[in-house]
Amino acid sequence: MMPLPTATETFALRTHCPYCAYQCGILLGDGDGRPLGVMGDPHFPVNNGQLCIKGWTAHTLLEHPQRLLTPLVRAKATDAFQTASWDYALDLIAEKFEAIRAESGPAALGVFGSGALSNEKAYLLGKFARVALRTPNIDYNGRYCMSSAAAGANRAFGIDRGLPFPVADIAHAEVAYLAGSNCADTLPPIMQWFDLQKANGGRLIVADPRRTATARAADLHLQLNPGSDLALHNGLLAIAVEENLIDRAAIDARTTGFDAVRRTVLDYHPAHVERLTGVPEAQMRTAARWMAAAKSCMLLSGRGAEQQSKGVDTVHSLINLALALGLMGKPHSGYGCLTGQGNGQGGREHGQKADQLPGYRLIEVEADREFIAKLWGVEASALPRKGKSAFELLDALGPTGIRALLVAGSNVVVASPDSLRIESRLRSLDFLAVNDSFENETTAHAHVVLPVAQWAEEEGTMTNLEGRVIRRRVSARMPRNVRTDIQVLQGLADRLGVGEKFTFKSTEAVFAELRQATAGATADYAGITYAKIDATDGVFWPCPDEEHPGTPRMFTERFHHKDGRAKFFPVTHRAAGEEPSAEYPLTLTTGRYKEHYNSGTQTRLVSRLAAAKPSPCVQLHPRLAARHDIQAGATVVIESRRGKAEFVADVTTDVRPDVLFVPFHWGGRRAANALTNAALDPVSRMPEFKYAAVRIAAVKVTTVGAGA
Ligand code: SF4
Repeated sequence: MMPLPTATETFALRTHCPYCAYQCGILLGDGDGRPLGVMGDPHFPVNNGQLCIKGWTAHTLLEHPQRLLTPLVRAKATDAFQTASWDYALDLIAEKFEAIRAESGPAALGVFGSGALSNEKAYLLGKFARVALRTPNIDYNGRYCMSSAAAGANRAFGIDRGLPFPVADIAHAEVAYLAGSNCADTLPPIMQWFDLQKANGGRLIVADPRRTATARAADLHLQLNPGSDLALHNGLLAIAVEENLIDRAAIDARTTGFDAVRRTVLDYHPAHVERLTGVPEAQMRTAARWMAAAKSCMLLSGRGAEQQSKGVDTVHSLINLALALGLMGKPHSGYGCLTGQGNGQGGREHGQKADQLPGYRLIEVEADREFIAKLWGVEASALPRKGKSAFELLDALGPTGIRALLVAGSNVVVASPDSLRIESRLRSLDFLAVNDSFENETTAHAHVVLPVAQWAEEEGTMTNLEGRVIRRRVSARMPRNVRTDIQVLQGLADRLGVGEKFTFKSTEAVFAELRQATAGATADYAGITYAKIDATDGVFWPCPDEEHPGTPRMFTERFHHKDGRAKFFPVTHRAAGEEPSAEYPLTLTTGRYKEHYNSGTQTRLVSRLAAAKPSPCVQLHPRLAARHDIQAGATVVIESRRGKAEFVADVTTDVRPDVLFVPFHWGGRRAANALTNAALDPVSRMPEFKYAAVRIAAVKVTTVGAGA
């Protein structure tokens, strides 16, 4: 098993933020393993020293008084947690998993990972599920985040890398279009590139149902109805065809399938699209003309466009537009996705997804199975097949489905759609083990909680939203009785009788095996080494050998399909999983605050962040507020077909009169996801976080407090 870090090791100053996919470079620590504070790293070219408030305060998590410092095991007699030794806790997990596997087969075991895990951990978690547990049922919370963009890019380009160019290219785009991204709040340092773009004479177009901080910075805000992004993009392409704005030479030279798309968008004449989207025809024509006339133009999508039950088709509608305008591979141009989670990109490349093996190899492709089986020293026939996607995995928990679950770094109770249903599924488990640094709404249901290292206490690589592989370095001393996720997996693998396949002496040794596993694959990391990352500002994959410089810009000459061409996909608008009705007349959409990150497990514990945003607000239009006699600051109970939750009223014209917006960082009675709909995209299995039919059930005069 990997040795524990010791107090004698050297603590690095340069590392990266624990939160989002921007992975800002930060300077941390005083050289003695105690974090004094955080500074933005002025030499990391993605954030250039800038941080958001989450990054500025991240060090306070390392010595937080609520930090888990010893394994916890639920006592049968009291049903309360009691402290336990590592040996006892790991023995118990291994015994329970083995007993359930013996009774119900390996598919009765499940593993749920996270887009916050390093590449090494994501890789090892996938190997652990397939080799140590032999279960097909492993998936991760990235399925809830970027999976629709990933599926769309894979189908259209043959490869999925969020941004196919460095983020600094934004500064040189004459036009940038953001579909459903409030990056001014979710990735604040990215705005430096949009500011430069504006200073260079560029234009920003934002499509969003809300007037967000990002929309306010735009030259043109298309305030569309939730769930109508696809119709809008088809409408823009229809205008481009009608006004002869498309790039016929690029279409002929580099793509297939345009004629079917052209025929499809003929049905999207502007008046019809205006009715579907609520966006005036004149604004659509302006947007299409700006995009087509620009020498360089980027079309970028965020979760607003992607977290829909038609998310993949919506991504295709944007890619179709990019291909038809000849943007792909042109300087400072093209389609890209603004990935959300810290390692959302790497997390989806290395095998913690139900259908994938490392390097974006596919678990149902025989050649891929054989390659990985040989590396892992097992028979290809022994590797499980494709398992259940994230929501389906959680929904299958219970006596007749998945009976035991290991969760690594995900607060699934807060993060999942239809969260009350998922919480009841967790309660029905025979056994739940969770690796985390803090107790949260998910550990509350666990039988064993293992305290694991935080971001600055262990090393590992992350892949940021540009596809740049970077290194987190050990910058702070790990508490004495805490272990890394990698050590946990090694300890369990030993107890499950396959320890010899997990004998890594360091995190770098795990990365060395990951490199071998990805050699020749779509996401090829074979040429990336820790030393190479240190010598540069990170290495962009694909990077097939050590002499290769990495690939900052993709698609300049060919796409990743065998014929080198990109594929158009004809797509049509369709209704959401549920539409407003007489009973539930309003549309709910969800998103993030700049002060909090995802399920809030970490950021709700940071005093400055909790003080700035102690509780969630519902944004509602003054006309709607007046109709329900709601004053700003009142507590409003929102109800959907699945549950109810309460929020503080924020009365604002930033939302449409028929739309409510709530953030999803809280659980309990303030859980936005108690309301959301688990309608899944048929291709990506992405749940529909961005669209639910709701009603205002009650209004209370007191405001919600800061407690959970
Ligand atoms: Fe940068 Fe994201 Fe961290 Fe904010 S949360 S400092 S944007 S990496």
